[in-house]
Amino acid sequence: QAKQSGRANFQVYCDEFNQRADEAYLLEARLKQALKHGRLSLHYQPVIDMDSGMLTGAEALVRLADDGQAVGPQAFIPVAEAAGLIGELGEWVVREACRQHDAWLAAGLKVSIAINVSPLQFREKGFAEKMKRIILDAQIEPSFIQIEVTESAVMENIDEAIAILNRIKSLGVKVALDDFGTGYSSLSHLSSLPLDKLKVDQSFVRRIGCDHSSQLVTEAIIALGRSLKLEIIGEGIESEDAFLYLKEHGCNHAQGYWLSRPLPADQFAEWCTQQIS
Ligand code: C2E
Ligand code: MG
Ligand code: MG
Ligand code: MG
Repeated sequence: QAKQSGRANFQVYCDEFNQRADEAYLLEARLKQALKHGRLSLHYQPVIDMDSGMLTGAEALVRLADDGQAVGPQAFIPVAEAAGLIGELGEWVVREACRQHDAWLAAGLKVSIAINVSPLQFREKGFAEKMKRIILDAQIEPSFIQIEVTESAVMENIDEAIAILNRIKSLGVKVALDDFGTGYSSLSHLSSLPLDKLKVDQSFVRRIGCDHSSQLVTEAIIALGRSLKLEIIGEGIESEDAFLYLKEHGCNHAQGYWLSRPLPADQFAEWCTQQIS
């Protein structure tokens, strides 16, 4: 009996394993096609200044724009990394964000754009030089571009990370530490990183108002960031309560569904005009 159920479990495990491998394989094929035929797109989520309510920028978030089932970057970025496609994908994102910045500028809309950089992409040899090339090609002002890196991307080999970040910063590009509070940053390392901004992880922000310890962590992160002279962005703001709480505790910028979901470029521009009028 035990032997039989053991075998049954093994079967279930195998089926699940195979199914997951199949899914990753299919996703990899989809990604390759999307890259080849230009079927990726960027959505833009507004970030606003908490005091003035003015737009301070947009975070670019990549989407698969083929006609397959909707799959988010949380699922396909790891597949792109495993399949060795992240370099190409990441480069497309930077180019597209620069192109969009320029297009908006021509239309009278000045938008700083934040680009997510995966740890693998960040460590790839010549990453900063590639950024430089793309920004030069696009002929845009580098200070309107910001990269977002996660704690895990920078904490692993701290000296190397500092060197890469310094190269990025010397281009005039801004740097934000994304999802802060969930990784394993040592505080001394944090203070040695050349950063401009700190993004409080959504897992804390989303629990403001229902979980006291998340509030305490959020407050501590804001205080820490401010003492390091960093600008603080609260992300994952889903309610007015969370917005007001963050504002009251010294957070500088706000991002979240309560303000706007990530939007296709044309809808983002519309959102901006509606804010002004
Ligand atoms: P992230 O950089 O932390 O981006 C924020 C994510 O939170 C986005 O999910 C956004 O849609 C979502 N979000 C924003 N406000 C709220 C809110 O109020 N509530 C909730 N529940 N969610 C909110 P998305 O677009 O699915 O992206 C997920 C992650 O995928 C990103 O997390 C980032 O790590 C990665 N990613 C997205 N685009 C890129 C890219 O171009 N390159 C790389 N390497 N990674 C990317
Ligand atoms: Mg981000
Ligand atoms: Mg984040
Ligand atoms: Mg994230």
